[in-house]
Amino acid sequence: MKVYFDNAATTRVRKEVVKAMKPFFDLDYGNASSLHSFGVSARKAVEESRARIAKSIGVSPEEVFFTSGATEADNMALKGMAFAAKKQGKNHLIVSSIEHHAILHTADWLESRGFTITRLPVDESGFVKASDLEDAITDKTFLVSIMYANNEIGTIEPIKELSKICAEKNVPFHTDAVQALGKIPLELENVSMASFSAHKLYGPKGVGILFKRAGTNIEPLLHGGGHEFGLRSGTENVPGIVGMAKAMELARKEMKTEAMRQSKMRDKLMNGILEVPSTRINGHKTKRLPNNINASFSFIEGESLVLRLDKEGIMASTGSACSSPNLEPSHVLLAIGLKPAEAHGSLRLTLGRFNKMKEVDYFLEVLSPVVKDLRKISPFGGQ
Ligand code: PLP
Repeated sequence: MKVYFDNAATTRVRKEVVKAMKPFFDLDYGNASSLHSFGVSARKAVEESRARIAKSIGVSPEEVFFTSGATEADNMALKGMAFAAKKQGKNHLIVSSIEHHAILHTADWLESRGFTITRLPVDESGFVKASDLEDAITDKTFLVSIMYANNEIGTIEPIKELSKICAEKNVPFHTDAVQALGKIPLELENVSMASFSAHKLYGPKGVGILFKRAGTNIEPLLHGGGHEFGLRSGTENVPGIVGMAKAMELARKEMKTEAMRQSKMRDKLMNGILEVPSTRINGHKTKRLPNNINASFSFIEGESLVLRLDKEGIMASTGSACSSPNLEPSHVLLAIGLKPAEAHGSLRLTLGRFNKMKEVDYFLEVLSPVVKDLRKISPFGGQ
């Protein structure tokens, strides 16, 4: 049996999405900027997709900017706002300490260029405290960026409360909402910018969006033909954009039923894991994404566990896929207070619409003997 429990890393593109994208590869393959009929047809597809995407997250089409994914959208939000703010004498950025590296490394880069960065701590569940945010904001703060839901431990941040604080102080608020999109309802009322990606949502890789509220000014990072209202030059990825619109619409329609179905599997997995001795669940028990499980197994390394599970046909992750090649302990697990050894023994399972309860049962059957075997040969003890 092949079991894919790594849906936060990426997802299978669903059939309906492939079908919607296909004509734009080999039939309607025009450049959306061309004046001829193929061009007009491509432009129509892009603008219809923009309108559908805008509707599905409750914003205006002119506030949706297509990008190559969420990494680019995050860079656009932080650097674009930093460059615009510099002209007004503002130089202070606030992020949380558990952001994805697309935010954290961008913040590091801005720091190396003279900007001041505050990295807010989180509590043992991964929540940013509203009072910490309030205390950190100064008259030099040009942006606050806090993710909607964490990609490793699934904790859902109190975005409504945090973005309201920023709105009251007239400070723009950005959220990386990649893992939350299509899984939980989004509250964007006081949010100035948000990043999204299609490939976490049964859409294609290499396409994402930055939602930027009208009146929020940022500098473009990519200069060229002036695409995307002058904010992001580059020929539009028409099939990708069409695929993203389809994926978002379908995910929105299914969100409630899928969240219920997946959270049942999630809870069974969490309870089953806790039956294995010397384990713990990371993140909040209930205020977490319906598809996320993150556990620590004492005395073993997460990488060994992932490789052993793969032999049994189960694909999982030690944390964020993007940081898997470097064997540093997860910055998220350290931020919630785990010791480096505990953080090393972590496993992330992320469910999706194609997973079934019988896969959960199979995983739980396999887990206990695998952990026992690994602990037998562990240099850290624990037999
Ligand atoms: N932000 C979060 C929270 C993510 O989980 C990811 C993907 O792992 C990204 C940003 C990067 O998205 P993309 O792969 O579209 O660049």
